Amino acid sequence: MFNTLSDRLTSVLQNLRGKGRLSEADIDATAREIRVALLEADVALPVVRTFIAKVKERAKGAEVSQALNPAQQVVKIVNEELVGILGGETRRLNLAKNPPSVIMLAGLQGAGKTTLAGKLAKWLKGQGHTPILVACDLQRPNAVTQLQVVGQRAGVPVFAPEPGNGVGDPVDVARKGIEEARRAQHDIVVVDTAGRLGVDEEMMRQAADIRAAVQPDEVLFVVDAMIGQDAVNTATAFAEGVGFTGVVLTKLDGDARGGAALSVREVTGQPILFASNGEKLEDFDVFHPDRMASRILG
Ligand code: GDP
Repeated sequence: MFNTLSDRLTSVLQNLRGKGRLSEADIDATAREIRVALLEADVALPVVRTFIAKVKERAKGAEVSQALNPAQQVVKIVNEELVGILGGETRRLNLAKNPPSVIMLAGLQGAGKTTLAGKLAKWLKGQGHTPILVACDLQRPNAVTQLQVVGQRAGVPVFAPEPGNGVGDPVDVARKGIEEARRAQHDIVVVDTAGRLGVDEEMMRQAADIRAAVQPDEVLFVVDAMIGQDAVNTATAFAEGVGFTGVVLTKLDGDARGGAALSVREVTGQPILFASNGEKLEDFDVFHPDRMASRILG
């Protein structure tokens, strides 16, 4: 992930090294190269435009500094603007004053929601919480069993509908899961929901109904960073159909070009809270915009 983008940006910025002064033409040429690098990395066009405009404006208006030469100043500006589009500060989970807090996961099938439920539960447990997972993906035949498996691995209980009671109503299961959390004094409820392969109205309605019924403290939109530009389209559809308060990027270990990671926050206005980078429960971390920007700039 990000290898090509990193290589490109590093070489563009390297071209500035050793220059004692930067002309307007230098800045324009650099901005053009950065634009190509971002577009090649599959960053959404409006995000590229905003980014380039900000970098150019700041580079041209930069005060001559004692500490940094003009080239270093451009590197600093690019770095700061990258941190900015990635969200600036790390945004912590929003938890309820009166437990249990409810965290709902939404996203397309295959995005990595169920895996993430296990990762999040394990991480929360490590932070001293007592989470419970609730299986509201009643669409995919194996989803409940899969959640039970990740729950077991994470050492966290899973609330699921009784087998043999038909397909069941996900809204009802979500409500009962929260009742169970209250009864057994779990302080955080993670609700896994159904996804489809593509955005579809019924799935959106179901997720929106669950959201309305349980009023989660966080709705996390889980998105596969490997799907490139589609990540932005899907995010926009979920923002309209369900609404969410934060984003989780998955599959950052893949070899995609990384544009999704750079676009999603800016396009939806919602922060990226966590990053998932592998199939194991440990392959998970809080998202740090500054660390991600440093990784991109190599
Ligand atoms: P769901 O349909 O949204 O619940 O998605 P799943 O949790 O079932 O994940 C779909 C597939 O992606 C599974 O094979 C997971 O093992 C895999 N997966 C999930 N997260 C990651 C990740 O961060 N990296 C990689 N490489 N694979 C992942």
